[in-house]
Amino acid sequence: MTSAGGNGGKSITTTCCVAGGGPAGMMLGFLLARAGVDVVVLEKHADFLRDFRGDTIHPSTLKVMEELGLLDELLQRPHNDIRRLQVMVGETSLTVANFSFLPRHRAFVAMMPQWHFLDFLADHARGYPSFQLVMQADVADLIEEGGRVAGVRATTSDGSLEVRADLVVGADGRKSTVRESAGLEIEDIGAPIDVFWMRISRAPGDPGSGGRVNAGSFFATLDRGDYWQLAYVIPKGASELVHAAGLPAFREIVARALPFLAERVGELKTWDDVKLLTVRIDRLRQWYRPGLLCIGDAAHAMSPIGGVGINLAIQDAVATANLLWKPLKDGAVQGDDLARVQKRREFPMRVTQRFQVLAQNRIVQPVISSTAPSLSPPWALKLLDRFPWLQQIPARFIGIGVRPEHVQSPAAAPEAAKVRA
Ligand SMILES: Cc1cc2nc3c(=O)[nH]c(=O)nc-3n(C[C@H](O)[C@H](O)[C@H](O)COP(=O)(O)OP(=O)(O)OC[C@H]3O[C@@H](n4cnc5c(N)ncnc54)[C@H](O)[C@@H]3O)c2cc1C
Repeated sequence: MTSAGGNGGKSITTTCCVAGGGPAGMMLGFLLARAGVDVVVLEKHADFLRDFRGDTIHPSTLKVMEELGLLDELLQRPHNDIRRLQVMVGETSLTVANFSFLPRHRAFVAMMPQWHFLDFLADHARGYPSFQLVMQADVADLIEEGGRVAGVRATTSDGSLEVRADLVVGADGRKSTVRESAGLEIEDIGAPIDVFWMRISRAPGDPGSGGRVNAGSFFATLDRGDYWQLAYVIPKGASELVHAAGLPAFREIVARALPFLAERVGELKTWDDVKLLTVRIDRLRQWYRPGLLCIGDAAHAMSPIGGVGINLAIQDAVATANLLWKPLKDGAVQGDDLARVQKRREFPMRVTQRFQVLAQNRIVQPVISSTAPSLSPPWALKLLDRFPWLQQIPARFIGIGVRPEHVQSPAAAPEAAKVRA
């Protein structure tokens, strides 16, 4: 219900207000609307078009889309498949993960620009009358009444907006305004790395996706069809040194680490072509307060290691919808219901963050600070390469993760849902 707000702005009353239209927020908005719950999603940007968001759709997300009957349609959108991951350590090339051991329909990671995935969810969610998406709505503050969160205040291109709701869900990412406004306590785990992202064209005959590891240099290479998405990992705070050394020196680093790109590094014309993304790992001690729940990166910021953050965010959304659609519909969400969401999702989040911390501290950081003349592969990687059936272990951990969620929230009766053809 929309009306004029007290301060001259607009006001909406709904059952659930989701702050943030990323993977967690859009999936939750879609699932709640599908279950017939009134939901408003507020997204601060005007569209979903942003470069260098994670673009990975993992096998467990493919499974969720299959359960929703939407997988074939989703895969009509532009994407390419990654079926195995190869790492080059020094001069040795090793296969370390093979997704083809997973069931046929999801034996790959789909690399799809995130805006296609979010647009797809938004298109389907809009077909449900109980769904509303407000773009360019920047959540600034929480409305608190009688010791509980009763809604949010946002600024929009149209002026101020108040959304009053039985439940506010903070899905506004790792710099979450919602969690900060709510005063939820953050446990900072720390990350000793940052990442430069860039793209360089791809040519026939280039090798497959994976990584290039050498003493002092760590690159991840993602095949995006006609271009490479490249991540260059640096020690935290070292970006100024890299910038100070100049772009020609940076191109030289790329060409040395990835010789097949040596002729193409000139495509990095200015520093605008090389984006710095800061990495953090943290988590909330408690994900909820009366009237409020945080999920996805807002509850637990994930490092890019393993490319699992989107997957975890979506799994949080599926679990939240499974556990809360009924209490929301009955107008009776209690603290215990919110606690159940944290209880369900905390273990997978902790195990995944533990893995990311181990990988960044024991593998990535020693490699990027190494001054040894050359590196040889660790025995664990050699073992994976030697015995291919072992490659399903990292493939399952990355692709499916810990405690995968399945859609249990219902689909609203067909007459209530006018999904666009
Ligand atoms: C360098 C880097 C690379 C990464 N690469 C990958 C990868 O390849 N694969 C992978 O799975 N994960 C990757 N991750 C992790 C991944 O990006 C996150 O874990 C994931 O995006 C979390 O999803 P989310 O929906 O919780 O939050 P987000 O994706 O951050 O979405 C939050 C949304 O909320 C909106 N928002 C923010 N503030 C407000 C506000 N005040 N009001 C309204 N809206 C707001 C934002 O615009 C955004 O749309 C990477 C992370 C980093 C740092």
